[in-house]
Amino acid sequence: MGNIINSDLKDRIIISLAQSSFTYKLIRKVGSYYFRKSDSSFLFWLNFYTRQLEIAYQQKKPVVWASIFTPSELLYALDLIPLYPEMISASVASLNLADYFIETAESNFYSPDLCSFYRVASGMSLKNCLPRPDMVISTSLLCDGSVKFFQNVSRYYGCDYYLIDPPYERNQGSRKYLVNELKKLVQWVSKRTNEQFSSIKLRKALELANQSTLLIKKINQIREKVPAPLSGWNALAYQLYMYFASLGSRDGLNFYELLAREVKNNAIQDKGVVERECIRILWLHQLRPYYPNIIWQIMLDYKAVIAFEEINQVFWLEYDLTQPFSGLADKILANPGAGSLSRRISSIENLIKKYKIDGVIHFNQRGCRQSCGGASMIKDYLKAKGIPMFILDGDGIDKRNYSEGQTRTRLEAFFEILSQNR
Ligand code: SF4
Repeated sequence: MGNIINSDLKDRIIISLAQSSFTYKLIRKVGSYYFRKSDSSFLFWLNFYTRQLEIAYQQKKPVVWASIFTPSELLYALDLIPLYPEMISASVASLNLADYFIETAESNFYSPDLCSFYRVASGMSLKNCLPRPDMVISTSLLCDGSVKFFQNVSRYYGCDYYLIDPPYERNQGSRKYLVNELKKLVQWVSKRTNEQFSSIKLRKALELANQSTLLIKKINQIREKVPAPLSGWNALAYQLYMYFASLGSRDGLNFYELLAREVKNNAIQDKGVVERECIRILWLHQLRPYYPNIIWQIMLDYKAVIAFEEINQVFWLEYDLTQPFSGLADKILANPGAGSLSRRISSIENLIKKYKIDGVIHFNQRGCRQSCGGASMIKDYLKAKGIPMFILDGDGIDKRNYSEGQTRTRLEAFFEILSQNR
């Protein structure tokens, strides 16, 4: 009985905190003070993230839930407040709250085989701990799970769902098809918001995205330097959030200006992420574990650094503002993770050379078919070229799929090999 009352009370506290826009204001204020010695780019992200949730709860504009591969520049052009449930799940895990929502999802028949990012987001929906979407837009790009998850979300909240379903091949036919789909999407949104589509706003958003992209390219170029001037561990966390959620907004541009300055300063001062850097790692997959774990510590022990992550590359061209939909379609089709595995492999090879990589770590997120499906083939390919690769099985969010002992033994063995190779 006591347990039921406790869990009821816990539910009520968590739900009322999550639903109050005041909570996000408070997190912003307390966070800014608590993390006052952190990088300005981190504080900027904290401000951006909490403000987005706060505004979404205030419902001043229509809220759209979108998958991470849906171009945010288009959503900003349409005057929507985009929320990315996968990214929110990661931040919930870093606050050590993921178990609660995973338990909620699984006790409502969501399979443990479903990617944990979607289990947490589903649990949050079931507990009403996320701002209600007015519409849902996702793409089937890379992530198989996203189609079903977002379809389910739209049914749960009783709102409409638009799926951008890019073709497998990258050619003129695919481009034409996708341009058409994106134009239809714009009409679809206009109908639901009763707002006329503005090509001026679209051009503005793409212009901002172009400026941010230029800065990301500059940052990536500086990151070629040894010692690594930027922590890949951070690049897979708050910086990744901005990469997916901020392009096309003024905030995005401001963020990348700050980050570029920080990276440049580190490079000028020869300030590396680790002292006497010995091992440079390329990290494959767009995520890492977000709960407390020992991976980063082991890297520090071996003077290893994530020099770059495949997800943070700029693979798309600058938008031609006279042909905005073609540019957006090209961005979707150009993703190196889409289509044949040979595309991903050639982009990995390119990164290995560019970032003077000693070894590759592929994080195998449980339940993620898109990335893990090709991991062994990539490993075989790289082995033939003499590049060591380690497949690190785990879970970005669900701690039950993480074993500290096993992770330590296997990672240390990998770093021993890399140390001997040098
Ligand atoms: S980890 Fe894989 S399955 Fe999970 S949301 Fe990302 S792409 Fe989709």
